[in-house]
Amino acid sequence: MSNHFDLICIGGGSGGVATARRAAAYGANCAVVERERLGGTCVNVGCVPKKVMWNAAHTAGALEHAADYGFDVDVRGLDWATLVERREAYIRRLNGIYERNLDNADVTLLRGSARFVDAHAIEVGGERYSAERFVIAVGGAPTWPDIPGAELGIDSDGFFELTECPDEVAVVGAGYIAVELAGVLHQLGARVRLVVRREAPLRTFDPIIREAFLEAAAADGIELVNRFVPERVTRENDGLVLHAEDGRQIDGLDQVLWAIGRAPATAELGLEAAGVETAADGSIPVDDYQVTSRHHIHALGDVTGNPFPLTPAAIAAGRRLADRLWGGKAGRYLPYENIPTVVFTHPPIGTVGLTEDEARARHGDDAVTVYATRFIPMEYALAEQHAKRRSAMKLVCVGPEERVVGIHLFGMGSDEMLQGFAVAVRMGATKADLDDTVAIHPTSAEEVVTMT
Ligand code: FAD
Ligand code: NDP
Repeated sequence: MSNHFDLICIGGGSGGVATARRAAAYGANCAVVERERLGGTCVNVGCVPKKVMWNAAHTAGALEHAADYGFDVDVRGLDWATLVERREAYIRRLNGIYERNLDNADVTLLRGSARFVDAHAIEVGGERYSAERFVIAVGGAPTWPDIPGAELGIDSDGFFELTECPDEVAVVGAGYIAVELAGVLHQLGARVRLVVRREAPLRTFDPIIREAFLEAAAADGIELVNRFVPERVTRENDGLVLHAEDGRQIDGLDQVLWAIGRAPATAELGLEAAGVETAADGSIPVDDYQVTSRHHIHALGDVTGNPFPLTPAAIAAGRRLADRLWGGKAGRYLPYENIPTVVFTHPPIGTVGLTEDEARARHGDDAVTVYATRFIPMEYALAEQHAKRRSAMKLVCVGPEERVVGIHLFGMGSDEMLQGFAVAVRMGATKADLDDTVAIHPTSAEEVVTMT
């Protein structure tokens, strides 16, 4: 095997694997370097195990509501160990599929940690490899707070290592991971305190989503502790204690889960040797075409600090880069707008495009028209006491033609509903286009095309 390639992708996660496979399909001689398990964050400690846990939590919710429909169900508990064992077996199957896919595409897999030795070569396990181009797709890792006792807590990686469901948990953070894992833990039996340093979580989401989530979470029994800035963690006789700067404390905790963001994994890549510039937070700035400060070195996915650190965004950026460089598709790139995203809360959040505030800031107040609805989904029709999770939907439209520039959904089915509506937004659909689409009845989705 030659140690010289057309392309070396550093990182065998969502972005690196997608880029190498697409480039190889065009005939490029490619390698992927991976130091851990293939599939990266998404497959091993992200989307996939998270969705398995969400599915388990969703099943727990369905069992709770089964009696509403007349079922006589006696749930005797959850065998957490079995759930984890089956989840990890599924992930191992995916690891194998990733490896076979690389093999079938004639992509060379280099196992180990890559480090640039100069702008045209890396070292992996003491061996030197060179390439015409590099793609840096090394992703990131959870951020930990710099406070005494932080190490007594766990991060999202640690969540996936739990061998049992904790009884008492403080989930610290206000973004995707915090609300998702708070929901899973609550549904699976833990008492959950969702600890945020400001007023509420999901600050960057449209207010209708934030409010609907807070209402449902409170009704479910997730306890929001706001304006709580962690100052230290201590271990006392009855468990962990999370102390706030203002003197408040939450005690008797089995786990403190940090979900306060992620940081790019660039520290040990030897980027100085390659002359690749980084931002203050360690991320690698790129232009629209995923080009770093060195024209033959590209970066994509979470490591770039792009506004959508999501698996499909990393994949799309990589495939389009390969299309442009090896597929003869000049000018192809990924615009980071109208990228749909789902937060797997209970029920889930789906959102694409601009929030109302963003639309007003970009287009002016007079240009923006908003349609919104709140309703009780039919799942709860037979049980008033379970009608606590009200759905919420908002359409954000601009201009006299009312082009739909934002869709925000909260409620059962939003996760599956959003994809098709994202196509419509991307194609420039107007409110009249939605109104002209015949509804599907009885569904929650029909509300999107019947809003007045
Ligand atoms: P990664 O997938 O992180 O891959 C980077 C790879 O590079 C890793 O395998 C790492 O081991 C390897 N690596 C790093 N440094 C080196 C080196 N020096 N040498 C060799 N290899 C190296 N996104 C969604 O779209 N939907 C979801 O539901 C979702 N849920 C998530 C849940 C959690 C808990 C987390 C943490 C993330 C979730 N994400 C989700 C985000 C998603 O996982 C990431 O956006 C995606 O994995 C980024 O892909 P990437 O290719 O940039 O990096
Ligand atoms: P996020 O960036 O989504 O949220 C972290 C939030 O935690 C910050 O926005 C901040 O909110 C708060 N925070 C930051 N520092 C502190 C601190 N020191 N103390 C207390 N709170 C703090 O990061 P996540 O880790 O949740 O997720 C990373 C990314 O992974 C997400 O942005 C998402 O793109 C992706 N992901 C996607 C998922 C999906 O697609 N379903 C699921 C999980 C992750 P504030 O400033 O308001 O306090």
